[in-house]
Amino acid sequence: MRPPAIAIDGPAASGKSTVAKRIAQELGYTFIGTGAMYRAVTWYLLQQGINPQNTSAVVAALPGIPLSFGKDGAFSTVVYEGRVLTTELTEKATNDNVSVVAAIPEVRALLVEKQREYNKREAVVMEGRDIGTVVFPDSRFKYFVTASEEVRAARRAAEGITDSIAERDKKDAQRACAPLVQAEDALLVDTSDMSIDEVVNFIVADIRSKLA
Ligand code: C5P
Repeated sequence: MRPPAIAIDGPAASGKSTVAKRIAQELGYTFIGTGAMYRAVTWYLLQQGINPQNTSAVVAALPGIPLSFGKDGAFSTVVYEGRVLTTELTEKATNDNVSVVAAIPEVRALLVEKQREYNKREAVVMEGRDIGTVVFPDSRFKYFVTASEEVRAARRAAEGITDSIAERDKKDAQRACAPLVQAEDALLVDTSDMSIDEVVNFIVADIRSKLA
């Protein structure tokens, strides 16, 4: 039997990444941030001067993409030329283009395969947009984490990141392939008026009750 896969989906800046990391720590599972994978592909394409709007050029570049998706301890990483990518992933150009790249079915197929590989040998808490709907549709542990638009904008601003989250959410929700949508069997968690501890405790309690 496959190890457990906890699916945490939701819009940008809903707090799902912070929450997912904490849940992974509590359970001793590996945290996988899939946004970083889409961001890394976007960053690489821009580096190479490939226009993300040019779908055929993006698709042609995919097989040779020299990114490796690994782990550092219990956290997923993306490595390029021996270096873990960090600040590159939240550069403005990356933010502005990632939803365009993520809408391309071939990009998604490549990354979904990598995402499933992580769960072959170990239990994971995976965070993204389509984890409960596409990556692990048979998971018993699906959470859709959200917050009001105002709360999400304030959280992003507090991190000092300029990011057009409303625009990304719109593109992510409207794309044809694997759109941002709550899985029918996901538990909705509105974090607008909840502390991080409250969200983590709520989700961990639900997971533990299902594992028991
Ligand atoms: O989670 P994060 O905000 O870093 O994700 C960046 C972008 O990557 C999203 O706006 C979306 O376009 C894309 N993404 C996706 N599917 C995922 C994770 C991220 O399409 N599972």
